[in-house]
Amino acid sequence: METVGRFAPSPSGRLHLGNLLCALLVWLSARQKDGRVLLRVEDLDTARCPRRYSEQMERDLQWLGLDWDIGPGRDNGTGPYYQSQRTEIYQAALETLREKGLVYPCFCTRAEIHAASAPHREDGQVVYAGTCRHLTAAEIAEKSRNRAPALRLITPEERWGFTDGHMGRYEENLAADCGDFLLRRSDGMFAYQLAVVVDDAAMGVTEVVRGADLLDSTPRQLYLYHLLGLTPPVFYHFPLLLTAEGRRLSKRDGAVGLDSLQDRLPPEEILGRLAFLARFNPSAAPKTAAELLADFAWEKVPRQDIRIPAGLFC
Ligand code: GLU
Repeated sequence: METVGRFAPSPSGRLHLGNLLCALLVWLSARQKDGRVLLRVEDLDTARCPRRYSEQMERDLQWLGLDWDIGPGRDNGTGPYYQSQRTEIYQAALETLREKGLVYPCFCTRAEIHAASAPHREDGQVVYAGTCRHLTAAEIAEKSRNRAPALRLITPEERWGFTDGHMGRYEENLAADCGDFLLRRSDGMFAYQLAVVVDDAAMGVTEVVRGADLLDSTPRQLYLYHLLGLTPPVFYHFPLLLTAEGRRLSKRDGAVGLDSLQDRLPPEEILGRLAFLARFNPSAAPKTAAELLADFAWEKVPRQDIRIPAGLFC
């Protein structure tokens, strides 16, 4: 079976080193198996992800030498998929779940959700307490007069897990560890969990490569694959890049944004150093993406978060 990988960023600014590592690993993992790479812009939040950022991102990926292919339903050029243009297929999946009796409206405000959340997890993730799960039709009609509801999926008291291609076994009890999760927000925006599953299946994606911050989304996604009768891909989650002080990278870390790096370093310097951080380039020597194909192996990539040593990029 042909390998199909995808890079699926939500461009709310210029790419930073974390996104670049993702794009590089997606590309290497698929190309090493002579597979295809798709590009999907996860811009459901259109206000945060205006088109100019994704257009810039396309130019940046080209500059880096990370190319992508045409996917199903996209015969006119190699432009990426935009989730903002695909709401009809998310709506169809939502209807399938609704027909199974697994979707309910939720009128809770953010503050109410936090107040009722139980149990509070150590990592701070809010587990929805199911407050609106048993509303009567009359209560729903009454509440709908004041507020448009979000839509949630009923989760079972079941353990769902998988063996990650890089991180190993990961499991969760869907009801206890995650709770009934959002399918659509009250403003009508489809939730990441639903859109990503529908899209990866529709695009024939066979391997998902992404940061370890999404490891704990995967059981929810596998449950959606199951409910929608879709075949899941294999997953490879890679460790997160941290600042030299051990913080998650954010837009505040301007020096690791491509806008700043591009002025100082040619693409092969950036890729070579990134590959060195992820331990498949033996030194920080410059390398093109094509040259890194010979070096890359998932076994070489660490499983622990990676601090970017001061001086490597800035
Ligand atoms: N759009 C998500 C992000 O930028 C990634 C989604 C995924 O790879 O599943 O973090």
